[in-house]
Amino acid sequence: MKINVIGAGLAGCEAAMQIASAGIPVRLYEMKPNKKSPAHKTNYFGELVCSNSLKAMRVESAAGLLKEEMRRLNSFLMQCADKCQVPAGGALAVDREKFAQLVTEGIQSQPLIEVVSEEITAIPESGITVIATGPLTSDALAKAIEERFGDSLSFFDAAAPIVTAESIDMEYTFTASRYERGGEDDYINCPMNKEEYERFYNALVSAERAPLHDFDVSNPKVYEGCMPVEVMAQRGEGTLRFGPMKPVGLIDPKTGHRPWAVLQLRKENAAGTMYNLVGFQTNLKFPEQKRVFSLIPALHNADFVRYGVMHRNTFLCSPKILNADFSVKENKNLFFAGQITGVEGYMESAASGILAGMNAVRVLRGQPTLVFPADTMMGALSRYIADPTVKKFQPMGANLGILPELEKRPRDKRERAAAYAYRALASQEIYIKEQLGMGE
Ligand SMILES: Cc1cc2nc3c(=O)[nH]c(=O)nc-3n(C[C@H](O)[C@H](O)[C@H](O)COP(=O)(O)OP(=O)(O)OC[C@H]3O[C@@H](n4cnc5c(N)ncnc54)[C@H](O)[C@@H]3O)c2cc1C
Repeated sequence: MKINVIGAGLAGCEAAMQIASAGIPVRLYEMKPNKKSPAHKTNYFGELVCSNSLKAMRVESAAGLLKEEMRRLNSFLMQCADKCQVPAGGALAVDREKFAQLVTEGIQSQPLIEVVSEEITAIPESGITVIATGPLTSDALAKAIEERFGDSLSFFDAAAPIVTAESIDMEYTFTASRYERGGEDDYINCPMNKEEYERFYNALVSAERAPLHDFDVSNPKVYEGCMPVEVMAQRGEGTLRFGPMKPVGLIDPKTGHRPWAVLQLRKENAAGTMYNLVGFQTNLKFPEQKRVFSLIPALHNADFVRYGVMHRNTFLCSPKILNADFSVKENKNLFFAGQITGVEGYMESAASGILAGMNAVRVLRGQPTLVFPADTMMGALSRYIADPTVKKFQPMGANLGILPELEKRPRDKRERAAAYAYRALASQEIYIKEQLGMGE
C-alpha cells in the first residue's frame, strides 16, 4: 500500500523520504510545475521562498539544536543543506538553487517515490495521507481544509529583495561578521551616518506600498520574524537601529567607529554573484523599493534581481485539530506537516515532516506513533502545536523558551543554552535507542 504525501516542499520532501527509507512506497503529489503559489518561483521541490538562511549552526542554540536533532534522524534536507552551504557567519545558509536542485534530484531518484504533478483539491478520504502544502496551500485545498476543520487562519509574510554583487558600490562597504563571528567576509556591511540614515528612514516610512490583494487588510497579522521593514520602521525612528540595521558588534575600518546604522548583505548563492538585503522583507511597490533602498550609499547603483514581496500565510488552529504526533484527532490515517500545522520556519517545517512521515509508516504497520520527549526541540514543538491549554494559538519556531525548565539553571546565557541542548540530545538518544533501535 502506498502512503500519499501532498506537497513537495520542505515538510513534504522530508516526510516522503522518511517513508521511502522505511521501505514503504510513496505517492508524492506536487502542483508544480502546472501551478505555483505567489512566492514559489521555480519548478524545484524544497524551494526556499524567502531567506536562504536555515538559521544558527551552533548546537547550543535553539535553531542549531533543532538541526542537530534532525541530523540524528537522518534528515534528508540537512544532508542536502550540508552539500551547498554558503558562508554566513554562525548561520547555516545555503545556495538556494543548488539546495532545491539536490532535494529534487534526491526525491526523483528514490525508486519508492512516485511523483505526481497534480494539484490536490480535496482531502483524500481513503489510505494514509500526509498533507504538507505549506502556508500558501492552493485555494481549492485551503477551502476544503477550512470546510472540514474550520478555524484556519491567515496572516502576512514577506520576502527581502536581492541585488547583484557587481552593482554594490564597495567603496561604501566593509566586510565583517557581527562580533567577528564566522568568516570575516561573510557579510557585506553597508554603513550609514546619522544624516544618511535619517534621509533613508523618512523615505522608507512615506514610500508607497503595494496593494494587498487576498489579505484581510483590516486586521493584518504580521509574521514577526519576517516583518516588512517599512512596517517595523513605522514603530519609531530607532526601531531599525535596534533591529535589522543594528550597528552593534561592527566597526567600520575607515572611521574606526561603530556606524550609526548598518544594512548587512548576505551571499545569496555560492558563487557570490547575488546578495540579499538581510531583514529587509518588504511590501513596497517595486519602483519604490529601487528608489528608497538606493538611498543606502553602497546601493546607489544597485541592480535588483528580485524585489521583495508579501504574501498570505495559512495555518490550522492545530491544538483543536491535531495530536502531537501530527495526526488528526478525528482520523488517525490523516496527518498534517509543515508550516500549515503552526510550526514556523524552514527547518521546523522539515522537522515536522520527519515525524509525520515516521508516524504514517507506524500507523500502516499497526505500531504506536512516536512523540519525542518534551525536553527535545522536536518534542517541544510537536507538543506545542497540540497543546489544548494554548488559547490563542500562534505559530511557533524553535526557541529555548518552549523547553521545560532545567533542574539547575546556569546564570550565564550561553551556558544555559548549552545545558538545554545537551539535555535534549541525551534525551533524544535514549528515546531513539528505545523506540527505534537506532544509534547503537
Ligand atoms: C513569503 C514567505 C516567506 C517566508 N520566509 C521564511 C524565512 O525567511 N525563513 C523561514 O525559516 N521561514 C520562512 N517562511 C515560513 C516557512 O518556513 C516556509 O514557508 C516553508 O517553506 C514551509 O515549509 P512547508 O513544507 O510547510 O511548505 P512549502 O515549502 O511551501 O511547500 C508546500 C508545497 O506544496 C505545494 N502545494 C500547495 N498546495 C498544493 C496542492 N493543493 N496540491 C499539491 N501541491 C500543493 C506547493 O507548491 C509547495 O511546493 C516563509 C513563508 C512565506 C510564505
